[in-house]
Amino acid sequence: MSTGGITSLTVAETLDKLRRREVSGDEVWRAYHERTQTLDPQIKAYLHLPPPEGSRSGRTAGGASPAGYGAGGEGLPPVDVHASLQDIPYALKDNMCVAGIPCTCGSRILEGYVPPYDATAVRRLDAAGARLLGKTNMDEFAMGSSCEHSAFFPTRNPWNLDLVPGGSSGGSAAAVAADMAAFALGSDTGGSVRQPAAFCGVVGLKPTYGLVSRYGLVAFASSLDQIGPFTKDVTDCALVMSALAGHDPLDSTSAPRTATDYAASLRPEVKGLRFGLPREYMGEGIQPGVRAAVEDAVEVLCGLGAVVEECSLPHTSYGVATYYIIAPAEASANLARFDGMRYGYRAKGNHELQELYETTRSEGFGPEVKRRIMIGTYVLSAGYYDAYYLRAQRVRTLVKRDFEAAFARFDALIGPTTPTVAFALGANMDDPLQMYLNDVFTLPVNLAGLPGLTLPCGFADGLPVGLQLIGPHFGEPLLFRVGYALEGALGIRNPKPPVSPSAAAVSERGAS
Ligand code: GLN
Repeated sequence: MSTGGITSLTVAETLDKLRRREVSGDEVWRAYHERTQTLDPQIKAYLHLPPPEGSRSGRTAGGASPAGYGAGGEGLPPVDVHASLQDIPYALKDNMCVAGIPCTCGSRILEGYVPPYDATAVRRLDAAGARLLGKTNMDEFAMGSSCEHSAFFPTRNPWNLDLVPGGSSGGSAAAVAADMAAFALGSDTGGSVRQPAAFCGVVGLKPTYGLVSRYGLVAFASSLDQIGPFTKDVTDCALVMSALAGHDPLDSTSAPRTATDYAASLRPEVKGLRFGLPREYMGEGIQPGVRAAVEDAVEVLCGLGAVVEECSLPHTSYGVATYYIIAPAEASANLARFDGMRYGYRAKGNHELQELYETTRSEGFGPEVKRRIMIGTYVLSAGYYDAYYLRAQRVRTLVKRDFEAAFARFDALIGPTTPTVAFALGANMDDPLQMYLNDVFTLPVNLAGLPGLTLPCGFADGLPVGLQLIGPHFGEPLLFRVGYALEGALGIRNPKPPVSPSAAAVSERGAS
């Protein structure tokens, strides 16, 4: 058959075609590869792609050899994977390690760094048969909400090339939205999977803290970071999570749980389930079009027999301030290892040791990362620790208790993923606080370690709106069930942005 339409399919649809032998693994690979070669010059989702001739094995993104797991991989326990993703091409955020392929974290300071080992998430996808297409652009060290803090170039939103795709995992979101990957992985510390998924009209999950191993994920804020998938629909999200989730002895924060078959939770049954709609998520600052789309989705959910009641998460307004103390504090410690000695970039010239550290870090880190390191160092310093860091930890407990109280009454919470739809490139670059406010509905979920699923629920000004479902710890099966039911009832599944390789070629000509 012609490979023309393969890239528009979901993972589940592609697996079905592969099983029926209507298409081969190589054809699927070639279709994605060709689309990416033609379309990515416009969107710029990828930082590292395989060479133009393509490859038989997905392990060759960036031209490395497809040889095993590299030096650090031998002797690792076998992975127990609950889903086959055989021959499914995927994209990986460039803060996860793959042996033999550069890992930049969107930063100059990692220039030339090639990890000698694989992230456990990558090993698990490998074990499920998925093929790595390439590594995607991101805000430097995952600090940002627009992908504009990448040291290399900004990524564009496939729905409108003048808009940001969101961040920090903007490249992964844009790649899936534009059918340049069947699915992708990102990381979510305060919203970096859910916010770009919402902006690009795809499904994104921030799993429960500890559910997905972080071994081989470059640390940003260790008490908050989680790896999560971007997919074209909810079914795919459950499939990918069935391959990804599971205990890993190499990550001390990994939950001691066995792998789960999340696809089993995909029943459109929500009758009698109780949902809380936090009033703090629907108040000031939310765009009218976003509010309207969420209200419509709530109505549809009620129509399916669920009960939705307004509730309160009273400490929501402290979330941003709390997060922007805790995350930079942890980042300032985690980023101390980039000193020009062990990884990547080292300042040129002859320097004394201290001067070498300083020059390397001054030249290697971008402005947002420097801002975070300074905030983090400040809030941890002797005179200010109690006033900032300790107090933020206490408020974090209050945020967690808000959720505990809500889950005593409700099965799950529902609300918008972000206050606005995607904004213009450059719009928030001079105003860090405005940029931080993007995460007002996503970061409380990280502070409490909960799972959050976003799915497209409608459109405002022609741009996708994300609906966020928040569950109790390890409540992913419930979120998938609700998401699956809603996706069907709303009739919004795998929506397509108005980009195509030919449109890209035309606008390229128009630009020249
Ligand atoms: N936008 C938030 C930040 O800049 C969250 C980033 C993330 O989740 N990695 O820190």
